[in-house]
Amino acid sequence: MNRFAVMGSPISHSLSPRIHQIFASQLGISLTYEAIEVPLGHLNEGVAQFRRQGGAGANITVPLKEEAYALCAHHTERAKEARAVNTLYWKDEQLCGDNTDGAGLVRDLTFNLGLDLAGKRILILGAGGAVRGILSPLLAENPQSIFVVNRTLEKAKTLADRFSIQATDYQTLNEGKESPFFLIINATSSSLQAQLPPLSPRWIKNAVVIDLAYRQHQPTIFMQWAESEGALSVHDGIGMLVEQAALSFQRWHNMSPATQQVIEMLRKTS
Ligand code: NDP
Repeated sequence: MNRFAVMGSPISHSLSPRIHQIFASQLGISLTYEAIEVPLGHLNEGVAQFRRQGGAGANITVPLKEEAYALCAHHTERAKEARAVNTLYWKDEQLCGDNTDGAGLVRDLTFNLGLDLAGKRILILGAGGAVRGILSPLLAENPQSIFVVNRTLEKAKTLADRFSIQATDYQTLNEGKESPFFLIINATSSSLQAQLPPLSPRWIKNAVVIDLAYRQHQPTIFMQWAESEGALSVHDGIGMLVEQAALSFQRWHNMSPATQQVIEMLRKTS
């Protein structure tokens, strides 16, 4: 049987096994997909053992995406742009890495939420691994501009230089005279710590807001805050999660699963 897995730490709460099993049964494919706990610094052993035991492909999650990038002999363009890998596969016994996170977010924004990003102003909160993965696919949608705001300005500036976008810190943004943003993406991990990033609520009013984090049974703290501050619409990261999984699935099986019903199912029951 085809063997797949997601590797990371912590991993026990990952929704990926459930998502891939639903995709497989939709398309009549027989596979196993397990969650494997792999501590930082041990991915090489983890991947080698998985391959020896018949592994055909793996997803990689926090905190191993950069380690996975370093392990791969070949990378897709989008993995190179992100300098991080979330999808492993083998070609002629060579380990290859892809990154489907950014394309997954763009599919969620454009297909599922029906947004047209061309000519629009986008504000991204955070400058970590997730942002590195989403910048290039977002830029390919031809927005008017992308601002990255981060607590540690240096990290935002590094991204701004690499991707020719704008970087700022929260205080400058909050006190400045920028025009409103069409889309605000919370790509910080603050919701996971039940905290809010220090963004002035004035940016939220009438903006489309998405938190890349997601929470079981209820909106994240950031989504609740955005809703109360008058956002035009508020979304979680489940759509991105399912879309990035669908793109990994497509890479391994050459078939495209239907995502909409999986997104709805996870929102109801996750
Ligand atoms: P990283 O640890 O690489 O980066 C975290 C970022 O959050 C940094 O920019 C950090 O700022 C910022 N941050 C953390 N806490 C706060 C706070 N209290 N206020 C302001 N900024 C804060 O994480 P990732 O980039 O890997 O992940 C970010 C988020 O994206 C997570 O919630 C993750 O779950 C989500 N994600 C969702 C995916 C999906 O499929 N839906 C896929 C990938 C990620 P600083 O640099 O100053 O420390």
